[in-house]
Amino acid sequence: MQDKELYQHILGLTSPWTVSGVKLDIPAEEIQVRVEHPSGTKFCCPECQKELACYDHAEERRWRHLDSCQYKTILIGRVPRVDCPEHGVKTVTVPWALPHSRFTIMFERFAIEVLLMTQTVKGAMTILRLQWDATWHIIERAVARGKARKEPSLLPRIGIDEKAFAKGRKFVSILYNLDNSTVEAIEEGHDTQAAKSCFSQLSQEQLQSVEAIAMDMSPAFVRAAKEMIPFAESKIVHDKFHIMKMANEAVDKVRRGEHKRLLKDGDDRLTGSKYFWLTSLENHSEKQHARFQSICNLSLATGRAWSYKELLRDLWAQETEGKAKSYFRDWYQRVIRTMMAPTKR
Ligand SMILES: [Zn+2]
Repeated sequence: MQDKELYQHILGLTSPWTVSGVKLDIPAEEIQVRVEHPSGTKFCCPECQKELACYDHAEERRWRHLDSCQYKTILIGRVPRVDCPEHGVKTVTVPWALPHSRFTIMFERFAIEVLLMTQTVKGAMTILRLQWDATWHIIERAVARGKARKEPSLLPRIGIDEKAFAKGRKFVSILYNLDNSTVEAIEEGHDTQAAKSCFSQLSQEQLQSVEAIAMDMSPAFVRAAKEMIPFAESKIVHDKFHIMKMANEAVDKVRRGEHKRLLKDGDDRLTGSKYFWLTSLENHSEKQHARFQSICNLSLATGRAWSYKELLRDLWAQETEGKAKSYFRDWYQRVIRTMMAPTKR
């Protein structure tokens, strides 16, 4: 089998496209495969698919394909243009690449597989022997294609949350569809503007369809929701996860303060107890539970703060809105009369 035939075969080129030459460029570590079509071939207008004579050819282009052994493999060719009576002069679509891409479809597909496996641009670009920009561009194009394919659906239950990256120095705001666990929008930052930009990526119809928005108690997110979502005041849900996280933090603050005071008097009863107070009762081992009971019986503020935190958890077990409201009022009245500033806050 000659090299032209070989590449014709492994590239899967079909009529009218054929391989007209194969060149090994050793200094560039490239195999260059030239592709062409016979003269007189008719091509379709990319807009209306009308079959037309070839008008002329665009500039020569290069598409990176899957490697041949250790060599980068490059397709080179000139893409025909047609002069459609309805749409004017248009570059035709070639079967091996998407419009404006510098890669063949097979290479882009492989690159996406590598990116999914490595989860980092840097890792993927090393394996693929690509520059950062080119690798990043492949991601952007894949995301754009995915977004274009996605049917806009109504979003009755959404959530907005922040996520830290770069060792906690930077944040993104992420908008979720909670019904099918998909990401609907991402924006840099975690302020009101970032959250508003997330909401603004939804259609008017989607914004109207929102029935509940889960979020933490960040004033920035609350403000953004109120500005962007009709009647947001009655739709914002400070979810159990975020509230219990705050309640746990309050217990820990009470413990740290009390531990410091006790240590001054040489009392180390709270030493090494941090994680007792953060887990909930049902997650304690038997040994933990025994020690826990003995600490709780010591009438320490930390024990009381822990009890209030666990009582708050029961709020979500209330069967009706009325019961939940009166449960919360009762809980609040008790807590607000204590001396435990972190829990009150
Ligand atoms: Zn046309």
